[in-house]
Amino acid sequence: MKKSNYLYARSEGLKIFKLLQIPGLLFALAISLFYAGTLQAQGIALETRRLSDNVLFVKGPDSNVLVVHSSEGLILVDGGHAHWYDSLRQSLEENFPGIPIRALINTQWHPEQTGANVPLGTEGVEIIAHENTMLWLSTEVWQRWSGKKYPPIAKAGLPTTTFFDDGVLQFGDLTLYYGFIWNAHTDGDIWVYFEEENVLVTGGLVSNGRWPEIDWSTGGYIGGLLDSFVSLLSVPDVNTRIIPAFGDIMNLEELKAQNQMYLTIFDRLHASIIQSHGVEDILAEKYTAEFDAAMGDPTLFMTLAFQSFKGRYRDAQNFRLLNIP
Ligand SMILES: [Zn+2]
Repeated sequence: MKKSNYLYARSEGLKIFKLLQIPGLLFALAISLFYAGTLQAQGIALETRRLSDNVLFVKGPDSNVLVVHSSEGLILVDGGHAHWYDSLRQSLEENFPGIPIRALINTQWHPEQTGANVPLGTEGVEIIAHENTMLWLSTEVWQRWSGKKYPPIAKAGLPTTTFFDDGVLQFGDLTLYYGFIWNAHTDGDIWVYFEEENVLVTGGLVSNGRWPEIDWSTGGYIGGLLDSFVSLLSVPDVNTRIIPAFGDIMNLEELKAQNQMYLTIFDRLHASIIQSHGVEDILAEKYTAEFDAAMGDPTLFMTLAFQSFKGRYRDAQNFRLLNIP
């Protein structure tokens, strides 16, 4: 598949999914096509912030990137979407002129996080990810809830170093810890913590100011997303800068508030599911009402959260589900 087709499929799929529900699809599609082209032609202005001499936060249009300067070179946690890769490279060169890229870490497989894999892998940069992330990237993924199909990425962009569980990595003077979360946003999510810099990158487990996609097609599950906070909250202190997959940098209080929000929503959803309510009933109950001003339209989030329960009603590993008959 040509690169341009791939970019189009990725950037427009979610919009199309929503647009299917309203009339005027063709008109909207035409506008979307025009918009995608404009973005690619003009380059993307990225918001960047230096968190310290060694740390750069890059806020992209659809995901965040964290860059840490080690004595072996730059370590990237996520690489943004392919459509703003050129702008990312430009930011790296402006902030760390002449410093080579040592490694790229994928926190999950989604294209808005793995768009730098192919160009960086082609340059010989080490790419590090959970084994499941590598597997999704290496095959065609049919994302059933959106109807989209993602082709496998070129071999050069596949992670070259994979792991199955939590671990620690050393790059010269820099130590980083990573934690694997079982089925949450996907089935290959990790967080990454830079101890010396006190920065935690959450990957797709946390989204700020926008509901996350619980991608049950590749192993995501609302109960796992909620459980991920047990692991996430074990890492930061009050001074930790917390980098979500999307949106502004957060602090510990904000992370705790988000955990509380998901607990509230999960309890309501759970109560509804044990009464065999369907997704229409659940949407009508507006279980997220008090959070929508901050997080946006919950329709897709709640639909995916509901669907993600499939096959898990008797999951003995999850204490929250033990009372489901
Ligand atoms: Zn994602």
